[in-house]
Amino acid sequence: MKKIVLLIIGAFIAAIITCTCGCLDSDTESEPYIDANSLLEYDISPSANVEWRTHCLACGHTYIFTSSENVIGLNKTELARRYPSWEITTFSRELVILSRVIDWYCPEHCLLYLMNDRLVIYSITEPNLDMLPMLSMNASAFSFAPSTADKLRSGIPFNSLREIDVFLSKEKQAR
Ligand SMILES: [Zn+2]
Repeated sequence: MKKIVLLIIGAFIAAIITCTCGCLDSDTESEPYIDANSLLEYDISPSANVEWRTHCLACGHTYIFTSSENVIGLNKTELARRYPSWEITTFSRELVILSRVIDWYCPEHCLLYLMNDRLVIYSITEPNLDMLPMLSMNASAFSFAPSTADKLRSGIPFNSLREIDVFLSKEKQAR
């Protein structure tokens, strides 16, 4: 009798276990499986706002350029690989912020150089912050003090062409 009761209890427990397992299986199938790694590897959306922030040590300004060109569809790993000199400070499908620090000027400035017997004014281009010659003039009308000439050989920054004009007028008068 005891044996029969035990068998019945055993069968009952087995039935419960089978049912539980079956229920778990069906639950697992109905829930979408989420891989945490796949969340980190999502791509930059075509409508994403992508900001490139350059902190310019020479002038203290932060130059921000917004463009998603060339980065749409990239994931964070691919982006980091393609732009190794930039730090990815924010990364999501819709907003990406990259930043870097350079020892150079932002496009709000122009630089005046003395090159042999020429005075050359360079602008800083957007978005690459390269130097672009804008204007060149004969330097023979000026006789700069040696210290000023030295500074001009390594480039003096100005905030506008007007400021360069004022500077050069003073240099001419001082002659
Ligand atoms: Zn600046």
